[in-house]
Amino acid sequence: MGIPARQTMKVGWYLFRNRVAKRQRFALVVELEPLFACNLACPGCGKIQYPTKILRQRVSVEQAVGAIAAMVDELVARKRFVYLCTNAVLLRRKLDMFTPSPYFAFTVHIDGLRERHDDAVDRPGVFEEAVAAIREAKARGFRVTTNSTFFTNDSPETVRSVLDFLNDDLEVDSMMISPAYAYEKAPDQEHFLGVEQTRRLFRATFGDGRRGRWRLNHSPLFLDFLEGKVDYQCTAWGIPSYSVFGWQRPCYLMADGYTSTYRELVEETDWDRYGRGKDPRCANCMAHCGYEPTAVVATMSSLRESIRALRVSA
Ligand code: SF4
Ligand code: SF4
Repeated sequence: MGIPARQTMKVGWYLFRNRVAKRQRFALVVELEPLFACNLACPGCGKIQYPTKILRQRVSVEQAVGAIAAMVDELVARKRFVYLCTNAVLLRRKLDMFTPSPYFAFTVHIDGLRERHDDAVDRPGVFEEAVAAIREAKARGFRVTTNSTFFTNDSPETVRSVLDFLNDDLEVDSMMISPAYAYEKAPDQEHFLGVEQTRRLFRATFGDGRRGRWRLNHSPLFLDFLEGKVDYQCTAWGIPSYSVFGWQRPCYLMADGYTSTYRELVEETDWDRYGRGKDPRCANCMAHCGYEPTAVVATMSSLRESIRALRVSA
């Protein structure tokens, strides 16, 4: 229900073509990071700790937003599905720069209800602004999705309360969820979930059958993975990240250097070095950008799981 049928069909066809071509490594989603500067400084974020010189590698926020709007137009014209991730602080002021399309959605960062979210982004008032922006964008006909990251100070109740609010009150089109990745550079190192804690949290959160009612933008197998019903290795090349430095190696979460082409990234990275049990930085990673591609490929490899995924998205 959370993933539009048009997108499910297009992704299914893309996966099928890669299977027929016997391609071992290919991207499902590309993360484009046009700039690293941010107007918030969330304590759990490991993406913004660059020297000023790097953070200035765009001219101004105004021009960066202008460049992003132009990029969105170009990609949508090519019928790519574009999810524009935003903390929504400037969203209401910039909405006029975008046009609603079935190929375009805003993805608003919402980690919890008012107190929990404002705490996560370390600024009072951001939750109210994000909620107002979501309502405004929905009223203007945009698709709006959300991305919520959970930490050790979450409980099944806080996770349920935010998902119920997004699903039922704001009626967002779909929601993404993920345990936070333990960024080495994040100022707050106290609240990252371990693997067992993540499984306990999601098992309890989904325990009363609510999982099927929420419009989650995830495959059933990824949600099973969060609950600990199945275990996987990550597919680090499945959601590659491109930024002002180039293609990030090995994944969106860790930076072991950059390559100038995706082919170079895929062919010259020693993928066997990465993943849980191999690299200590991966030890507690269960993030969607590493494991959703694994779950999607596992879904496509099984008729039973494909039917289950189609039923959920129907
Ligand atoms: S997590 Fe917070 S600080 Fe990091 S990029 Fe997102 S909004 Fe900005
Ligand atoms: S487990 Fe995979 S996705 Fe997660 S940080 Fe390691 S390489 Fe990246």
